[in-house]
Amino acid sequence: MPSSERAGRPAGHGEAHQRVAAVDGWFTLDGAGPALIGQRCKACKTFVFPPTASWCPNPLCADTEMEEVELSRRGSIWSFTNACYQPPAPYVAREPYEPFSIAAVELEAEQMVVLGQMVRGTRVEDLHVGDQVELVLDTLYEDTDREYLVWKWKPVGAEPAGGYGDRSGDRSGGSGPKKSSAGGNRMAERRRDG
Ligand SMILES: [Zn+2]
Repeated sequence: MPSSERAGRPAGHGEAHQRVAAVDGWFTLDGAGPALIGQRCKACKTFVFPPTASWCPNPLCADTEMEEVELSRRGSIWSFTNACYQPPAPYVAREPYEPFSIAAVELEAEQMVVLGQMVRGTRVEDLHVGDQVELVLDTLYEDTDREYLVWKWKPVGAEPAGGYGDRSGDRSGGSGPKKSSAGGNRMAERRRDG
């Protein structure tokens, strides 16, 4: 923590926060196309996330040669819920606390389920099992000089919800086609056959 004394300066709200990963090595920091970093067993091709395994979790394999790979940026909602009450410490949340939705997402290629928050503004009432989502980076929490980023899931086709990609005020760089409908009901748009 920097020892910042409160000199006669007005609060520096306009200063840019340094953006850092809330946890190192679990995702890329590519603002345009971030991806989760997982592991793949060289022997049996089993995928693992987070990338902290020392050996393959497949009980029929248990090989120890795991290679790092970037995982699919898209998936479909496998299950979801919301968090209406602020979890106790050591969980870090925005102040004031804002309820958020959580989704367990089956990744498109790996068919592995990864849990994550939905982007701010996503109402649990608007989610359905099977909805297509994509990975984005967004703020988990901030302190005086840093913004801690984490991956979140964004409904495919939805407008940015004030997250990481929205900072410049220029929305033209957002991903995907612009759709103004709030629902984003483009289910199973890119379902793969086997
Ligand atoms: Zn294996």
